[in-house]
Amino acid sequence: MGLMIEQFGCKSDNFGVLIHDPDSGVTAAIDAPELGPIREHLEAKHWTLDRIFTTHHHGDHTEANLALKEEFGCRIIGPAGDAIPGRDEIVREGDTFLFGTYEVRVLATPGHTLDHITFWIPAESVAFVGDTLFAIGCGRVIEGTPAMMWNSLEKLMQLPNDTDIYCGHEYTQSNARFALTIEPENADLVERARHVDERRAAHMATLPTTMLLEKRTNPFLRVDEPAIRDRLGMRGKAAAEVFAEIRGRKDRFK
Ligand code: ZN
Ligand code: FE
Repeated sequence: MGLMIEQFGCKSDNFGVLIHDPDSGVTAAIDAPELGPIREHLEAKHWTLDRIFTTHHHGDHTEANLALKEEFGCRIIGPAGDAIPGRDEIVREGDTFLFGTYEVRVLATPGHTLDHITFWIPAESVAFVGDTLFAIGCGRVIEGTPAMMWNSLEKLMQLPNDTDIYCGHEYTQSNARFALTIEPENADLVERARHVDERRAAHMATLPTTMLLEKRTNPFLRVDEPAIRDRLGMRGKAAAEVFAEIRGRKDRFK
């Protein structure tokens, strides 16, 4: 049986994610945004928590680290830096480790924070990107530079198109509203925005997404599109500059 993945809401707009390998019986949480929902989902599945994979140090991704560690004795794997509560093991760009029968690969994806990493499980075509890439959007550049964030997104774009992408937040509806100001004639985006509105009206999650869908509809990955460059008056500029312009506009977008 393949890897089992449970995604659920935490806090106001965070996602909790549990992954479980039925062959070996191990379970991991991707980030630990909130104790209550994570514990409830573990109990409902009769899983016990063995690991936490931390994407970055922000409190909305690490809040429940210590409480979960106390309750389950789980091992916390995360990026270097001082700010990951309870971390047992540091992982870096290019590292691989085993989760049950699965190989997990670590990609450094800095920009939102300097420590941000992505966990990729190639055998299951799934990546946990935290606050680096969002559905139709990307994370705010808080600690790094736009060029650094662009490099991280370029790295994620190297993942196979069929990769399922799990993100840290449900921001898709507002991301879509913004994206339509950058590329209003993109038929795939118009269609997706309509679908997202329907799902949100029904209180359903819009994640996970796929790399292919993001390449078709996410303006932050589409900086080489002539229509976007023309709209921004940035024909002939470097991709990182176009990215920085779109990111700046999103920061100011209401
Ligand atoms: Zn964050
Ligand atoms: Fe976050």
